[in-house]
Amino acid sequence: MEHQTVTTQRVPCNAYRSEPRGPRKRARDSGGAGCWERAFERALAYGEAAGTALAETLWPTRCAICDTPGEAVCQACLRSLPYLDWWRACPRCGAPFGRVQCSECNPVTMAALDRHELPFDACASAVVYNDATARIVRAWKDAGERRLVETLADLMASVTAPSWRAERPTIVPVPATAAALRRRGFDHGADLARALAERLSLDEIPLLARPRSFDQRSLARSGRIKNMENRFKPLPGARAPASVLIVDDVYTTGATLFAASEAARAAGARQVRCVTFARVW
Ligand SMILES: [Zn+2]
Repeated sequence: MEHQTVTTQRVPCNAYRSEPRGPRKRARDSGGAGCWERAFERALAYGEAAGTALAETLWPTRCAICDTPGEAVCQACLRSLPYLDWWRACPRCGAPFGRVQCSECNPVTMAALDRHELPFDACASAVVYNDATARIVRAWKDAGERRLVETLADLMASVTAPSWRAERPTIVPVPATAAALRRRGFDHGADLARALAERLSLDEIPLLARPRSFDQRSLARSGRIKNMENRFKPLPGARAPASVLIVDDVYTTGATLFAASEAARAAGARQVRCVTFARVW
């Protein structure tokens, strides 16, 4: 009777080492298998922590901007980034000094691009693209420092207006080309969208198909926008939510976001906004 009482008693998870009698049977009967699993998970976690500590000793994390060991972007560099001043920025396209009159999205500029208006409703960026922010983007995308996605997403979340969030838009990544995916070994757009969606507690869906590879580095703004036209298509059968927030790392000429916004509208989105980490200026 006493023995039965013992076998039905739950064994505390941290007591498995001190139980000398019939531990397997007791573990099975009492649901203690979870203890072994947790012990195994703890052992794995210790192993992982030890591996991380060793890797940090051999190859310390260094600031992407100043190369100081310690963090992926050190606090001093983070404080001195060229943050975009929301009060001076264009409320439509997010250009850094377009609050009163924007040189980037006024009717004359749009006419030169064969457009009546911007294809998105609004855009915001966290920082101006300069040497420092370019280093962050390069270290993240090309040097494989994937932890930097946390920094990008933190800063992008901070410039996503509360009124935008209130509409509960669905986050849509700009998909990488297949060539970029092969070269880098990871989908940076999907990583960024996931990280931002977590911070803003919003849903995220892969709405757009990957575009064909192309090189438009030598093209001017109008050429890039023409070159990008119809590059993005909705994924087969995909239906866009009414409100979407398209995320990308850098707003260069707007060509990529123009094309992605048009594809999102073609898929059914009515409200299209964009947010990027950096803005070329
Ligand atoms: Zn503007």
